[in-house]
Amino acid sequence: MTVTDPVTATDWAGLAASLAAPTGLLVGGEIRGAEATRKLLTPRDGTVLAEVAWAGEAEVDAAVAAARRAFDHGPWPRLHPRERGEILQRFAALVEEHRAEIALLVALEMGKPIRTAYEIELRALVRTLRYYGELADKEHGEVTPTTAGDLSIVTREPAGVVAAVVPWNFPLTLAGWKFAPALAAGCTVVLKTAEQSPLSMQRVAQLGLEAGLPAGVLNVVNGDGVVTGQALGRHRDVDILTFTGSTEVGRHFLRYSADSNLKRVYLELGGKSPNIILPDAPDLDAAADTAAWAIFFNSGEMCTAGSRLILHRDIAARVVDRIVATAADWAPGDPLDPTTAMGPLVDERSLARVLGQLDDGVAAGARVLTGGRRTRVDSGGPYLEPTVVTGLAADNVLLREELFAPVLSVVEVSSEEEAVAVAGDTPYGLAAAVWTADLGAAHRVARRLRAGTVWVNCYEEGDLSVPFGGVKLSGFGRDKSRHALAEYSDLKTTWIHYG
Ligand code: NAP
Ligand code: MG
Repeated sequence: MTVTDPVTATDWAGLAASLAAPTGLLVGGEIRGAEATRKLLTPRDGTVLAEVAWAGEAEVDAAVAAARRAFDHGPWPRLHPRERGEILQRFAALVEEHRAEIALLVALEMGKPIRTAYEIELRALVRTLRYYGELADKEHGEVTPTTAGDLSIVTREPAGVVAAVVPWNFPLTLAGWKFAPALAAGCTVVLKTAEQSPLSMQRVAQLGLEAGLPAGVLNVVNGDGVVTGQALGRHRDVDILTFTGSTEVGRHFLRYSADSNLKRVYLELGGKSPNIILPDAPDLDAAADTAAWAIFFNSGEMCTAGSRLILHRDIAARVVDRIVATAADWAPGDPLDPTTAMGPLVDERSLARVLGQLDDGVAAGARVLTGGRRTRVDSGGPYLEPTVVTGLAADNVLLREELFAPVLSVVEVSSEEEAVAVAGDTPYGLAAAVWTADLGAAHRVARRLRAGTVWVNCYEEGDLSVPFGGVKLSGFGRDKSRHALAEYSDLKTTWIHYG
């Protein structure tokens, strides 16, 4: 039997040429335009991809009103949770059916390699919808101890209208981690896409409607953060704000809440995650290859990127040599080529920012071991070579700031103790990893690392069943797992005195 690889077998450029991009907004069950439009460029080659409807305050008001109506008067929060789950399962099936078309939208709008878009981004969304579809009717209330004559019932009720504001680096995975549990819990949603990635999520939301979501249950608006995101943040008819993005913007959301109706806020923010390799790592070559993956995958545009590689002196040269030698495997290419491992950065602004940070880092003493330059200039897109730097003082910008780029900062240490101290020398706390064959060291280090997730002898592994989120300046609140479902409900106590 021959198994055909769907990514290799698809004519992506042909499909792109005949693609009808979803350029509208989805509000109250209808695809509509907006007063303003925005030309969207593709980082693949810098050309115009589409002209899309761009929401202002009026469109945000309409979307929140639709979500409010659907919550206050529509069937969604009152359905049996099993029925909500069934609709989410249908939603998952429709996304899977349209997997190629949606993966292509992701690859074109934000430059993700088509194989990653198809195999990782789309699969993650389908699995998320299935997971929360299955979980929708599995949470139970409580009956707590009382004396005879009283009955106390604790129920979970849908929390209301959820506004979700998301970034572009995983435009569907991260959106799904918010809207799927919110919908399963019986909430209604207004989601703002990131300026660089409106298309894929609009298409996904259309499929939600086709799957049977009632009008107004899932609304999607495109627009500028300071206008559209802020209008959602300050809206008094929004009950929950859930945000994934930078720490700087996360701070705004707390202000929006404080200045309006004290809506609750969940923040998934930035990171500068340490990846520690101790000398007794079980397989040093595998650790080095994974360390490269942890920073070059998705062009390093990952909140959990292993951007600080902390190496014990005894093995540092061997690990660094291997990473530098394999950097060529990550040479950027056309995102529509199925063999491309790394695409462009998301836009010219992002590339200019990173090149500036690299200049500052080098001026402060950093040594570039490989990469550091713009590449594929003729393509017209913002491509950056996979880059490795070393020789960094503790206050070097390349060790302090989240770069959101394929730039690995290497630090050498002499002991487990020093590794833990260097790892903790950051205001962020999203993720961390340690590589060692010593069970005691693994547990010791894992306990001492302040992060939402710690990986031992692996990186970026996980499952929908585990919560995801940060501590310190990486935010609070958790996506994924049954804990996320709980975040979109309110606990209600009903105390019945019957005599
Ligand atoms: P960003 O600039 O913070 O933007 C994120 C979202 O917020 C976008 O939709 C953006 O709109 C909107 N926004 C911007 N300014 C706003 C404002 N003043 N008020 C309301 N909304 C506003 O982040 P990004 O560049 O898109 O994404 C990269 C960041 O996301 C990194 O820091 C990364 O670590 C973080 N991230 C975190 C996680 C996690 O789970 N912890 C996951 C992925 C990414 P525009 O599109 O118009 O700018
Ligand atoms: Mg932005």
